Amino acid sequence: MPNTLFDALFAPLQGRQTSLLTLPDGQRISGDAFYCMLARQAHALRASGLGAGDRIAVQVAKSPAALATYGAALALGAVFLPLNTAYTAEEVDYFIGDATPRLFLCDPARARALQPVCDRHGAHLLTMDAGGSGDLADLAAAMPDHITAADRGPDDLAALLYTSGTTGRSKGAMLSHGNLLSNAGVLAELWRFTAGDVLLHALPVFHTHGLFVASNTVLLTGGAMIFLPGFDLESVLNLLPQATAMMGVPTFYTRLLEDARFDRALVAHMRLFVSGSAPLLAETHAAFAARTGHRILERYGMTETNMNTSNPYDGDRRAGTVGFPLPGVELRIMADGAEVVPGDVGMIEVRGPNVFQGYWQMPEKTAEELRPDGWFITGDLGRVDGEGYVQIVGRQKDLVISGGFNIYPKEVELLLDAVPGVVESAVIGLPHPDFGEAVFAVLVAQKGAALDAGAALDTIRDRLARFKQPKAAVVVDDLPRNAMGKVQKNVLRAQYSGWFA
Ligand code: ATP
Ligand code: MG
Repeated sequence: MPNTLFDALFAPLQGRQTSLLTLPDGQRISGDAFYCMLARQAHALRASGLGAGDRIAVQVAKSPAALATYGAALALGAVFLPLNTAYTAEEVDYFIGDATPRLFLCDPARARALQPVCDRHGAHLLTMDAGGSGDLADLAAAMPDHITAADRGPDDLAALLYTSGTTGRSKGAMLSHGNLLSNAGVLAELWRFTAGDVLLHALPVFHTHGLFVASNTVLLTGGAMIFLPGFDLESVLNLLPQATAMMGVPTFYTRLLEDARFDRALVAHMRLFVSGSAPLLAETHAAFAARTGHRILERYGMTETNMNTSNPYDGDRRAGTVGFPLPGVELRIMADGAEVVPGDVGMIEVRGPNVFQGYWQMPEKTAEELRPDGWFITGDLGRVDGEGYVQIVGRQKDLVISGGFNIYPKEVELLLDAVPGVVESAVIGLPHPDFGEAVFAVLVAQKGAALDAGAALDTIRDRLARFKQPKAAVVVDDLPRNAMGKVQKNVLRAQYSGWFA
């Protein structure tokens, strides 16, 4: 029976003798071995009560077995719901209560803490540890190594993926088989993935970047992955010479650049480095090109839409931009109910086969952000330049309104980042008795540099209108970031909320 996503990604693995996954210790898992593991898991999940349309929530360490669970869920026509491994029992309680999955898979070490959560919401708990062992593997061991996939069409749900919670409570994005397959196809073609590719995969698989952008694209094109449990600098340096492509968040690239062993020779055979999930500093892009001769390809997407734009494979990969709308994806910039004149800043809206089906059990939120004619209001502000490159200037929720004027933090951050001694910056709005909000800068100093916050602000004064100038700044060691390398401005706003009070 046809199963849109499974047939394209996982069914072709059956019988494939070549390696699909290489682990850090050199162990290789062939396509067929992976398929058999997935099939056995699918039977075990079915025996545990998982059926078509049911949700399965998964909070486990990244491993081949964890990736197989994604395939097993699809084979049964179930909806895969991966959760960030950092979430506490209290946070998991929200997700399980919201999504009401039939099954919940977690590390055995967490089973005691999470069993009451499952009991409360009627989910059945199974375990899987970082090596893939646990209840599920035990059940799967005696199961057949072939599975006939359940019938699923393009409009059926494949995954319920929660947003990162950067701007507020995470929302469950309902993604269909068609959403995921269309995006994987477009990316594979645009970025020229083939069966000859070996992707260095160091991203988590609970997020759209590692699970869909990276894994789906490789699975669709029959390539292989070096599958690391996480970003470990030594492993990445060791294994890069075996890879042809890498996808990462900006912090992966800055960490590689901090190591002198990362040089042109090490990446001579690589054909592609992709960055996304958070803005890549133009400075990182330039330093990377100078060191390696490779221009990082930056793209833009989100949980709700998969990928929307990408810099070109051939042609100018422009630092500080996220490139052009993907084939089949429409993009427009809106302000006050109409499209802005080219070059002006406004809300980025997108439409296409990549755009999700709505927020899980949030009809009002869905209606606010997903227009009836299919346009999705992304929450990101941006502009399109004369040549069609899309530039993101920040999130609408981070827009600072001071004394009635709009200030785009990105504009101020770019100037501050260029100040000698500053590595990076975050500009936020803080409550202010006169202005409503006041602009405030958090600066990260270069190692060993004696950075004076006031002096740093002085250096940008004649380059910015007065209302945009930060009224105060602090110097810190690091910016708070989440697992995907996103700066958590809500944490900064809370931390400094009383500054002007
Ligand atoms: P939440 O929606 O819960 O607040 P989130 O938006 O961070 O969290 P994700 O869906 O993981 O959750 O992230 C999507 C967002 O990441 C985009 O809306 C955009 O703001 C940001 N983003 C992704 N790629 C880029 C990029 N290349 N440059 C700048 N920002 C990016
Ligand atoms: Mg978001």
